[in-house]
Amino acid sequence: MASIVGRTRGGAEWIPRFLDSIDIHKCIGCGRCYKVCSQNVLALIEKPFEGEDEYGDDMGNKVMSVAHPENCIGCEACAKTCAKKCQTHIEV
Ligand code: SF4
Ligand code: SF4
Repeated sequence: MASIVGRTRGGAEWIPRFLDSIDIHKCIGCGRCYKVCSQNVLALIEKPFEGEDEYGDDMGNKVMSVAHPENCIGCEACAKTCAKKCQTHIEV
């Protein structure tokens, strides 16, 4: 059971789902999640492995990282914009 439970403006229960991790082997470093996050959680980093990703592409040299998880408010805007579905969100 989630320990952090909020309310919408209308008073309905809302359970935040916080960004926990990003699968760097699926992430293509597109930056969409970064653009929609208002909480300074994410940062592009150098791809920490060599060669192709799991799609068989050499996808470039950047992937997204959860640089400041303590800032996340669990809104899931980043998940909605990620075409690769490489993020994991959790209730806490
Ligand atoms: S869930 Fe919201 S606050 Fe957390 S990283 Fe994604 S967009 Fe940012
Ligand atoms: S939207 Fe998805 S694929 Fe794009 S940088 Fe963010 S986590 Fe990676």
